[in-house]
Amino acid sequence: MERRIEKKIIAPAAILLDGRLAWGRAVYIEAGRIVATDTLELLQASYPDAKVEHWRNLALVPGTVNAHNHSFQSLLRGIAADQPFLTWRDESLYKYSPLMRPKDIYTGALFAFAEMMKCGVTTVCDFFYLHNDGIAGDEAVIRAAKDIGIRLVLARTMYDWDGAPKGYVEDVKTAAANTEMLMQKYKGGMAKVIPAPHSLHAATPEMVQAGHELAEKYNTPMHIHVSEERFEVEQVKKEFGTTPLRLLHKLGVVDKRLNIIHGVWLEHEEIELMGEAKAQLIYCPSSNMFLADGITDIPAYMKNQVPVALGSDGACGNNRISVFEEARMVAILQKAKTLDALCVKYDDAWKMATTGGARALNLPVGDIVPGKYADFVGIKLDDFSMQPLSSNQQFLPNLVYSLQPTAIDRVMVNGQDTVVEGKLMGVSESEVLARVHATMEYLEEQ
Ligand SMILES: [Zn+2]
Repeated sequence: MERRIEKKIIAPAAILLDGRLAWGRAVYIEAGRIVATDTLELLQASYPDAKVEHWRNLALVPGTVNAHNHSFQSLLRGIAADQPFLTWRDESLYKYSPLMRPKDIYTGALFAFAEMMKCGVTTVCDFFYLHNDGIAGDEAVIRAAKDIGIRLVLARTMYDWDGAPKGYVEDVKTAAANTEMLMQKYKGGMAKVIPAPHSLHAATPEMVQAGHELAEKYNTPMHIHVSEERFEVEQVKKEFGTTPLRLLHKLGVVDKRLNIIHGVWLEHEEIELMGEAKAQLIYCPSSNMFLADGITDIPAYMKNQVPVALGSDGACGNNRISVFEEARMVAILQKAKTLDALCVKYDDAWKMATTGGARALNLPVGDIVPGKYADFVGIKLDDFSMQPLSSNQQFLPNLVYSLQPTAIDRVMVNGQDTVVEGKLMGVSESEVLARVHATMEYLEEQ
Protein backbone atom coordinates (compact mmCIF):
# COMPACT_ATOMS: atom_id res chain seq x y z
CA MET A 1 0.00 0.00 0.00
CA GLU A 2 1.32 3.44 -0.90
CA ARG A 3 1.90 5.71 2.10
CA ARG A 4 0.20 9.07 1.64
CA ILE A 5 0.59 12.09 3.89
CA GLU A 6 -3.02 12.38 4.91
CA LYS A 7 -4.43 15.11 7.09
CA LYS A 8 -7.69 14.23 8.80
CA ILE A 9 -9.83 15.35 11.67
CA ILE A 10 -11.86 12.53 13.21
CA ALA A 11 -14.91 13.98 14.96
CA PRO A 12 -16.65 11.33 17.07
CA ALA A 13 -19.33 11.94 19.73
CA ALA A 14 -16.68 11.59 22.45
CA ILE A 15 -13.08 10.53 23.02
CA LEU A 16 -11.75 8.40 25.86
CA LEU A 17 -9.14 10.66 27.50
CA ASP A 18 -7.54 9.81 30.84
CA GLY A 19 -10.10 7.08 31.47
CA ARG A 20 -13.15 9.33 30.97
CA LEU A 21 -15.30 10.33 28.04
CA ALA A 22 -14.59 13.82 26.73
CA TRP A 23 -17.68 14.88 24.77
CA GLY A 24 -17.41 17.02 21.67
CA ARG A 25 -13.67 16.49 21.28
CA ALA A 26 -12.02 15.63 17.99
CA VAL A 27 -8.58 14.37 17.01
CA TYR A 28 -6.31 15.67 14.26
CA ILE A 29 -4.06 13.10 12.59
CA GLU A 30 -1.31 13.46 10.03
CA ALA A 31 0.63 10.71 8.24
CA GLY A 32 -0.84 8.06 10.54
CA ARG A 33 0.03 9.82 13.82
CA ILE A 34 -2.02 11.79 16.34
CA VAL A 35 -1.06 15.47 16.28
CA ALA A 36 -3.67 17.11 18.53
CA THR A 37 -6.99 16.63 20.34
CA ASP A 38 -9.36 19.55 20.84
CA THR A 39 -12.83 20.74 19.90
CA LEU A 40 -13.71 20.35 16.22
CA GLU A 41 -13.96 24.14 15.79
CA LEU A 42 -10.49 24.78 17.17
CA LEU A 43 -8.91 21.95 15.19
CA GLN A 44 -10.55 23.20 11.99
CA ALA A 45 -9.23 26.68 12.67
CA SER A 46 -5.69 25.34 13.24
CA TYR A 47 -5.70 22.82 10.38
CA PRO A 48 -7.99 24.28 7.70
CA ASP A 49 -6.83 21.90 4.94
CA ALA A 50 -7.67 18.73 6.92
CA LYS A 51 -10.58 16.55 5.79
CA VAL A 52 -13.22 16.11 8.51
CA GLU A 53 -14.66 12.63 9.14
CA HIS A 54 -17.66 12.47 11.42
CA TRP A 55 -17.94 9.30 13.52
CA ARG A 56 -21.48 9.98 14.66
CA ASN A 57 -22.71 8.39 17.86
CA LEU A 58 -19.36 6.65 18.36
CA ALA A 59 -16.86 6.95 21.18
CA LEU A 60 -13.25 6.90 20.03
CA VAL A 61 -10.99 4.67 22.16
CA PRO A 62 -7.43 3.44 21.57
CA GLY A 63 -7.12 0.18 19.62
CA THR A 64 -6.28 -2.83 21.77
CA VAL A 65 -2.93 -4.67 21.66
CA ASN A 66 -2.89 -8.46 21.48
CA ALA A 67 0.60 -9.08 22.87
CA HIS A 68 0.56 -12.86 22.34
CA ASN A 69 -1.01 -14.96 19.61
CA HIS A 70 -0.11 -17.82 17.25
CA SER A 71 -2.10 -16.96 14.11
CA PHE A 72 -1.90 -20.37 12.38
CA GLN A 73 -3.72 -21.90 15.37
CA SER A 74 -6.93 -20.17 14.21
CA LEU A 75 -7.18 -22.98 11.63
CA LEU A 76 -7.18 -25.57 14.45
CA ARG A 77 -9.96 -24.08 16.55
CA GLY A 78 -12.39 -26.66 17.87
CA ILE A 79 -9.95 -29.52 17.24
CA ALA A 80 -8.88 -31.47 20.35
CA ALA A 81 -10.91 -29.25 22.70
CA ASP A 82 -11.25 -30.46 26.31
CA GLN A 83 -8.15 -32.65 26.27
CA PRO A 84 -5.15 -32.87 28.60
CA PHE A 85 -2.33 -30.62 27.39
CA LEU A 86 -0.21 -33.30 25.72
CA THR A 87 -3.21 -34.82 23.87
CA TRP A 88 -4.32 -31.33 22.81
CA ARG A 89 -0.82 -30.56 21.55
CA ASP A 90 -0.36 -33.85 19.69
CA GLU A 91 -3.84 -33.96 18.12
CA SER A 92 -3.97 -30.36 16.97
CA LEU A 93 -0.60 -28.60 16.67
CA TYR A 94 1.72 -31.52 16.01
CA LYS A 95 -0.73 -33.29 13.69
CA TYR A 96 -1.69 -30.40 11.40
CA SER A 97 1.03 -27.76 11.58
CA PRO A 98 3.71 -29.84 9.75
CA LEU A 99 1.32 -30.05 6.77
CA MET A 100 0.89 -26.30 6.43
CA ARG A 101 2.43 -24.74 3.33
CA PRO A 102 3.23 -20.99 3.17
CA LYS A 103 -0.14 -20.38 1.52
CA ASP A 104 -1.94 -22.15 4.39
CA ILE A 105 0.08 -20.13 6.91
CA TYR A 106 -0.99 -17.00 5.00
CA THR A 107 -4.63 -18.12 5.15
CA GLY A 108 -4.42 -18.85 8.89
CA ALA A 109 -2.91 -15.44 9.57
CA LEU A 110 -5.39 -13.64 7.29
CA PHE A 111 -8.26 -15.36 9.09
CA ALA A 112 -6.87 -14.66 12.57
CA PHE A 113 -6.05 -11.01 11.84
CA ALA A 114 -9.43 -10.46 10.16
CA GLU A 115 -11.31 -11.75 13.19
CA MET A 116 -9.11 -9.78 15.59
CA MET A 117 -9.55 -6.60 13.60
CA LYS A 118 -13.33 -6.93 13.90
CA CYS A 119 -12.79 -7.37 17.65
CA GLY A 120 -10.87 -4.08 17.90
CA VAL A 121 -7.28 -5.42 17.93
CA THR A 122 -5.11 -2.90 16.08
CA THR A 123 -1.69 -4.35 16.99
CA VAL A 124 -0.85 -8.02 17.28
CA CYS A 125 2.29 -9.89 18.28
CA ASP A 126 2.38 -13.18 16.39
CA PHE A 127 4.71 -15.69 18.07
CA PHE A 128 5.61 -17.70 15.00
CA TYR A 129 7.46 -20.99 14.74
CA LEU A 130 6.47 -22.84 11.51
CA HIS A 131 9.78 -22.07 9.84
CA ASN A 132 10.21 -25.17 7.64
CA ASP A 133 13.91 -24.44 6.96
CA GLY A 134 13.51 -20.83 5.95
CA ILE A 135 11.55 -17.62 6.16
CA ALA A 136 8.70 -18.19 3.67
CA GLY A 137 6.21 -18.81 6.49
CA ASP A 138 7.34 -15.72 8.41
CA GLU A 139 6.88 -13.59 5.31
CA ALA A 140 3.44 -15.13 4.64
CA VAL A 141 2.32 -13.88 8.09
CA ILE A 142 3.75 -10.42 7.37
CA ARG A 143 1.86 -10.33 4.02
CA ALA A 144 -1.41 -11.29 5.71
CA ALA A 145 -1.00 -8.49 8.27
CA LYS A 146 -0.44 -6.01 5.48
CA ASP A 147 -3.55 -7.19 3.62
CA ILE A 148 -5.75 -6.78 6.73
CA GLY A 149 -4.04 -3.51 7.73
CA ILE A 150 -3.12 -4.67 11.25
CA ARG A 151 0.08 -3.51 12.95
CA LEU A 152 2.30 -6.57 13.42
CA VAL A 153 5.18 -7.55 15.62
CA LEU A 154 6.43 -10.94 14.48
CA ALA A 155 8.03 -12.63 17.47
CA ARG A 156 10.23 -14.97 15.46
CA THR A 157 10.57 -18.12 17.46
CA MET A 158 13.97 -19.68 18.06
CA TYR A 159 13.43 -23.37 18.71
CA ASP A 160 15.97 -26.18 19.04
CA TRP A 161 14.18 -28.99 20.88
CA ASP A 162 14.07 -31.93 18.48
CA GLY A 163 11.01 -33.56 20.09
CA ALA A 164 8.78 -31.16 18.11
CA PRO A 165 7.87 -31.40 14.40
CA LYS A 166 11.08 -30.75 12.49
CA GLY A 167 9.72 -27.66 10.72
CA TYR A 168 9.84 -25.81 14.06
CA VAL A 169 13.49 -26.62 14.70
CA GLU A 170 16.62 -24.70 13.69
CA ASP A 171 20.12 -24.85 15.12
CA VAL A 172 21.25 -21.78 17.06
CA LYS A 173 23.28 -20.33 14.18
CA THR A 174 20.49 -20.71 11.62
CA ALA A 175 17.80 -19.39 13.96
CA ALA A 176 19.89 -16.33 14.80
CA ALA A 177 20.78 -15.69 11.13
CA ASN A 178 17.20 -16.02 9.87
CA THR A 179 15.82 -13.89 12.71
CA GLU A 180 18.44 -11.20 12.16
CA MET A 181 17.80 -11.13 8.43
CA LEU A 182 14.08 -10.52 9.05
CA MET A 183 14.80 -7.94 11.79
CA GLN A 184 16.91 -5.97 9.33
CA LYS A 185 14.40 -6.26 6.49
CA TYR A 186 11.30 -5.24 8.49
CA LYS A 187 11.98 -2.42 10.84
CA GLY A 188 10.48 0.87 9.72
CA GLY A 189 6.89 0.14 8.72
CA MET A 190 3.77 -1.62 9.95
CA ALA A 191 5.60 -4.91 10.58
CA LYS A 192 8.55 -5.42 12.91
CA VAL A 193 10.42 -8.55 13.91
CA ILE A 194 11.76 -9.38 17.39
CA PRO A 195 13.59 -12.47 18.70
CA ALA A 196 11.54 -15.01 20.67
CA PRO A 197 13.31 -18.11 22.04
CA HIS A 198 10.32 -20.44 22.49
CA SER A 199 10.66 -21.48 26.13
CA LEU A 200 13.09 -23.24 28.44
CA HIS A 201 11.65 -26.59 27.38
CA ALA A 202 12.05 -25.89 23.64
CA ALA A 203 15.14 -23.67 23.49
CA THR A 204 18.59 -24.39 24.92
CA PRO A 205 20.40 -21.80 27.07
CA GLU A 206 22.58 -21.01 24.03
CA MET A 207 19.44 -20.29 21.98
CA VAL A 208 18.00 -18.05 24.69
CA GLN A 209 21.26 -16.10 24.84
CA ALA A 210 21.41 -15.80 21.05
CA GLY A 211 17.91 -14.28 21.14
CA HIS A 212 18.93 -11.85 23.85
CA GLU A 213 22.01 -10.75 21.90
CA LEU A 214 19.79 -9.86 18.93
CA ALA A 215 17.39 -7.94 21.18
CA GLU A 216 20.33 -5.93 22.54
CA LYS A 217 21.92 -5.35 19.17
CA TYR A 218 18.68 -4.06 17.60
CA ASN A 219 17.20 -2.51 20.76
CA THR A 220 14.02 -4.63 20.74
CA PRO A 221 12.06 -6.62 23.31
CA MET A 222 12.60 -10.37 23.63
CA HIS A 223 9.62 -12.68 24.20
CA ILE A 224 9.68 -16.16 25.74
CA HIS A 225 7.06 -18.52 27.26
CA VAL A 226 7.93 -19.09 30.95
CA SER A 227 6.35 -21.42 33.52
CA GLU A 228 3.09 -21.98 31.65
CA GLU A 229 2.66 -25.51 32.95
CA ARG A 230 4.11 -27.15 36.02
CA PHE A 231 5.97 -29.70 33.89
CA GLU A 232 8.34 -26.97 32.68
CA VAL A 233 9.25 -26.01 36.25
CA GLU A 234 9.90 -29.66 37.15
CA GLN A 235 11.95 -30.22 34.00
CA VAL A 236 14.12 -27.12 34.52
CA LYS A 237 14.67 -28.05 38.17
CA LYS A 238 15.74 -31.54 37.16
CA GLU A 239 18.02 -30.45 34.36
CA PHE A 240 19.49 -27.22 35.77
CA GLY A 241 18.84 -27.46 39.51
CA THR A 242 16.91 -24.20 39.64
CA THR A 243 13.58 -22.64 38.64
CA PRO A 244 12.87 -21.10 35.20
CA LEU A 245 13.14 -17.39 36.02
CA ARG A 246 16.23 -17.96 38.15
CA LEU A 247 17.79 -19.84 35.26
CA LEU A 248 17.03 -16.95 32.90
CA HIS A 249 18.58 -14.62 35.47
CA LYS A 250 21.71 -16.77 35.59
CA LEU A 251 21.86 -16.62 31.81
CA GLY A 252 21.89 -12.81 32.07
CA VAL A 253 18.68 -12.20 30.13
CA VAL A 254 16.36 -10.86 32.85
CA ASP A 255 16.24 -7.14 32.08
CA LYS A 256 13.92 -4.50 30.66
CA ARG A 257 13.85 -6.25 27.27
CA LEU A 258 12.50 -9.47 28.71
CA ASN A 259 8.79 -10.20 28.28
CA ILE A 260 7.73 -13.50 29.78
CA ILE A 261 4.50 -15.04 28.56
CA HIS A 262 2.19 -16.74 31.10
CA GLY A 263 4.37 -16.78 34.27
CA VAL A 264 1.77 -19.01 35.98
CA TRP A 265 4.13 -20.93 38.28
CA LEU A 266 6.70 -18.31 39.26
CA GLU A 267 7.70 -18.21 42.92
CA HIS A 268 7.32 -14.89 44.74
CA GLU A 269 11.05 -14.35 44.78
CA GLU A 270 11.14 -14.81 41.01
CA ILE A 271 8.42 -12.18 40.60
CA GLU A 272 10.49 -9.83 42.79
CA LEU A 273 13.49 -10.47 40.53
CA MET A 274 11.37 -9.44 37.56
CA GLY A 275 10.31 -6.24 39.28
CA GLU A 276 13.88 -5.34 40.15
CA ALA A 277 15.01 -5.95 36.58
CA LYS A 278 12.02 -4.05 35.07
CA ALA A 279 11.03 -7.11 33.06
CA GLN A 280 7.42 -7.49 31.86
CA LEU A 281 4.62 -10.06 31.91
CA ILE A 282 2.29 -10.95 29.04
CA TYR A 283 -0.75 -12.56 30.56
CA CYS A 284 -3.22 -14.81 28.69
CA PRO A 285 -5.99 -15.53 31.23
CA SER A 286 -8.48 -17.33 28.94
CA SER A 287 -5.78 -19.59 27.48
CA ASN A 288 -4.52 -20.51 30.96
CA MET A 289 -8.09 -21.41 31.92
CA PHE A 290 -8.84 -23.33 28.72
CA LEU A 291 -5.65 -25.41 28.91
CA ALA A 292 -5.98 -25.94 32.68
CA ASP A 293 -2.57 -24.33 33.31
CA GLY A 294 -3.48 -22.58 36.57
CA ILE A 295 -3.92 -18.95 37.65
CA THR A 296 -1.06 -16.44 37.48
CA ASP A 297 -0.72 -14.31 40.63
CA ILE A 298 -1.38 -10.95 38.96
CA PRO A 299 -1.63 -8.94 42.23
CA ALA A 300 1.91 -10.13 43.10
CA TYR A 301 3.23 -8.91 39.74
CA MET A 302 1.42 -5.58 40.20
CA LYS A 303 2.78 -5.21 43.73
CA ASN A 304 6.30 -5.66 42.36
CA GLN A 305 5.69 -3.04 39.64
CA VAL A 306 5.95 -5.59 36.83
CA PRO A 307 4.05 -4.10 33.87
CA VAL A 308 1.35 -6.45 32.53
CA ALA A 309 0.17 -6.80 28.91
CA LEU A 310 -2.60 -9.10 27.65
CA GLY A 311 -2.63 -11.80 25.00
CA SER A 312 -5.29 -14.09 23.61
CA ASP A 313 -2.78 -16.86 22.78
CA GLY A 314 -3.68 -19.09 19.79
CA ALA A 315 -7.33 -19.59 18.83
CA CYS A 316 -7.24 -23.35 19.45
CA GLY A 317 -6.35 -22.74 23.09
CA ASN A 318 -8.71 -19.93 24.16
CA ASN A 319 -10.83 -20.08 21.82
CA ARG A 320 -11.65 -16.39 21.28
CA ILE A 321 -9.08 -13.88 20.08
CA SER A 322 -10.37 -10.61 21.50
CA VAL A 323 -8.39 -8.42 23.89
CA PHE A 324 -11.62 -6.88 25.24
CA GLU A 325 -12.40 -10.44 26.32
CA GLU A 326 -9.02 -10.82 28.05
CA ALA A 327 -9.42 -7.47 29.85
CA ARG A 328 -12.71 -8.70 31.32
CA MET A 329 -11.16 -12.08 32.17
CA VAL A 330 -8.10 -10.75 34.00
CA ALA A 331 -10.26 -8.65 36.30
CA ILE A 332 -12.98 -11.18 37.10
CA LEU A 333 -10.72 -14.24 37.33
CA GLN A 334 -8.34 -12.50 39.74
CA LYS A 335 -11.24 -11.32 41.91
CA ALA A 336 -12.52 -14.90 42.11
CA LYS A 337 -9.06 -16.20 43.05
CA THR A 338 -8.19 -13.60 45.68
CA LEU A 339 -11.70 -12.87 47.06
CA ASP A 340 -10.70 -9.22 46.68
CA ALA A 341 -12.91 -7.15 44.37
CA LEU A 342 -10.25 -4.41 44.19
CA CYS A 343 -7.25 -6.57 43.25
CA VAL A 344 -7.53 -5.82 39.50
CA LYS A 345 -9.83 -2.92 38.68
CA TYR A 346 -11.39 -2.07 35.31
CA ASP A 347 -8.92 0.73 34.71
CA ASP A 348 -5.99 -1.62 35.50
CA ALA A 349 -7.40 -4.14 33.00
CA TRP A 350 -7.87 -1.45 30.35
CA LYS A 351 -4.27 -0.26 30.77
CA MET A 352 -3.05 -3.84 30.35
CA ALA A 353 -5.09 -4.10 27.12
CA THR A 354 -3.65 -0.91 25.65
CA THR A 355 -0.58 0.84 27.13
CA GLY A 356 0.67 -2.40 28.72
CA GLY A 357 0.71 -4.03 25.29
CA ALA A 358 2.40 -0.97 23.80
CA ARG A 359 5.15 -1.25 26.39
CA ALA A 360 5.63 -4.99 25.83
CA LEU A 361 6.08 -4.39 22.11
CA ASN A 362 7.93 -1.07 22.43
CA LEU A 363 5.50 0.75 20.11
CA PRO A 364 3.93 4.23 20.38
CA VAL A 365 0.33 2.97 20.50
CA GLY A 366 -2.39 2.38 23.09
CA ASP A 367 -3.26 5.95 24.03
CA ILE A 368 -4.91 8.97 22.40
CA VAL A 369 -2.12 11.50 22.85
CA PRO A 370 0.00 13.46 20.35
CA GLY A 371 2.84 11.45 18.85
CA LYS A 372 1.15 8.04 19.09
CA TYR A 373 -0.07 6.18 16.02
CA ALA A 374 -3.67 6.83 14.98
CA ASP A 375 -4.96 3.36 15.93
CA PHE A 376 -8.56 3.67 17.11
CA VAL A 377 -11.75 1.75 17.74
CA GLY A 378 -15.15 3.43 17.36
CA ILE A 379 -17.59 2.12 19.98
CA LYS A 380 -21.33 2.44 19.38
CA LEU A 381 -22.69 4.35 22.33
CA ASP A 382 -26.22 3.03 21.74
CA ASP A 383 -25.27 -0.64 21.62
CA PHE A 384 -27.22 -2.49 24.31
CA SER A 385 -23.99 -3.81 25.83
CA MET A 386 -22.70 -0.24 26.44
CA GLN A 387 -25.90 1.01 28.10
CA PRO A 388 -26.96 2.58 30.35
CA LEU A 389 -24.59 5.48 30.13
CA SER A 390 -26.15 8.15 32.26
CA SER A 391 -22.80 9.28 33.63
CA ASN A 392 -19.32 9.45 32.12
CA GLN A 393 -18.08 7.18 34.88
CA GLN A 394 -20.01 4.23 33.47
CA PHE A 395 -18.22 4.18 30.13
CA LEU A 396 -14.94 2.50 31.10
CA PRO A 397 -16.54 -0.18 33.34
CA ASN A 398 -18.96 -0.95 30.49
CA LEU A 399 -16.10 -1.07 27.98
CA VAL A 400 -14.22 -3.63 30.09
CA TYR A 401 -17.03 -5.66 31.64
CA SER A 402 -20.05 -5.61 29.33
CA LEU A 403 -18.99 -4.72 25.77
CA GLN A 404 -19.98 -7.23 23.12
CA PRO A 405 -18.42 -7.21 19.61
CA THR A 406 -21.71 -5.76 18.28
CA ALA A 407 -20.57 -2.45 19.81
CA ILE A 408 -17.45 -2.28 17.61
CA ASP A 409 -18.46 -0.22 14.59
CA ARG A 410 -15.23 1.19 13.18
CA VAL A 411 -11.55 0.46 13.43
CA MET A 412 -8.66 2.56 12.15
CA VAL A 413 -4.98 1.65 12.06
CA ASN A 414 -2.27 4.14 11.16
CA GLY A 415 -4.97 6.61 10.12
CA GLN A 416 -6.48 4.13 7.62
CA ASP A 417 -9.97 2.62 7.88
CA THR A 418 -9.83 -1.14 8.44
CA VAL A 419 -13.41 -1.72 9.65
CA VAL A 420 -16.40 0.46 8.73
CA GLU A 421 -19.91 -0.29 10.01
CA GLY A 422 -18.62 -3.59 11.37
CA LYS A 423 -17.24 -4.75 7.99
CA LEU A 424 -13.62 -5.30 7.02
CA MET A 425 -12.23 -2.90 4.42
CA GLY A 426 -8.97 -4.61 3.33
CA VAL A 427 -10.35 -7.98 2.22
CA SER A 428 -13.66 -9.61 1.35
CA GLU A 429 -14.95 -11.59 4.32
CA SER A 430 -16.38 -14.31 2.07
CA GLU A 431 -12.98 -14.70 0.39
CA VAL A 432 -11.30 -15.18 3.77
CA LEU A 433 -13.80 -17.94 4.57
CA ALA A 434 -13.41 -19.58 1.16
CA ARG A 435 -9.64 -19.70 1.71
CA VAL A 436 -10.09 -21.20 5.18
CA HIS A 437 -12.40 -23.91 3.81
CA ALA A 438 -9.96 -24.76 0.99
CA THR A 439 -7.06 -25.06 3.44
CA MET A 440 -9.07 -27.24 5.83
CA GLU A 441 -10.07 -29.53 2.96
CA TYR A 442 -6.42 -29.87 1.98
CA LEU A 443 -5.30 -30.56 5.58
CA GLU A 444 -8.01 -33.19 6.11
CA GLU A 445 -7.03 -34.99 2.89
CA GLN A 446 -3.39 -35.44 3.99
ZN1 LIG B 1 1.98 -19.09 23.23
